[in-house]
Amino acid sequence: MLNTPKRVEKAFKFLTSGYDADIDVVLNNALFTVDYSEMVIVKDIDFYSLCEHHLLPFFGKCHVAYIPSTKVIGLSKIPRLVDVFARRLQVQERLTNQIADTVREKIAPLGVAVVMEATHLCMSMRGVEKQNSFAVTSAMLGAFRDNSRTRMEFLELLRLRSVIPATSVRPSAGLACVGED
Ligand SMILES: [Zn+2]
Repeated sequence: MLNTPKRVEKAFKFLTSGYDADIDVVLNNALFTVDYSEMVIVKDIDFYSLCEHHLLPFFGKCHVAYIPSTKVIGLSKIPRLVDVFARRLQVQERLTNQIADTVREKIAPLGVAVVMEATHLCMSMRGVEKQNSFAVTSAMLGAFRDNSRTRMEFLELLRLRSVIPATSVRPSAGLACVGED
């Protein structure tokens, strides 16, 4: 127990290390110019984050897709990008949007889609019984927002069509971590 404060400090430094991360360093040398315009999809990226209301974990899977215009991101960099934003105090909706916005900013694709499915311990541990502790959020930009066939193709690849309504556009902040007081 004596060393617990030190261990906790160290753990929280790591769990919030995303604040110090430089996206351009993370993506360094991994943006490539290509002649490829099919959907790129990276599924089932594990992530762990902390909700900013209770400092309790929420964690699950993140799925990222984009349609390149001239550039792609090295595939191994996508999970690193997810980690940068997950290792901050977050709400799930903002985390989802930040990943999508960053992909858009860095490679200006024709479209970006990010879906995150997560369990929130601040709900399940505190016995917030009327709320499901499982939340799905999505951010659909460009072709994924404007073209329902593109969006459906992506959601079919994830087999998530039933959970995400076709009208799902950018979620408003503050929905995932409910029951805070
Ligand atoms: Zn919370």
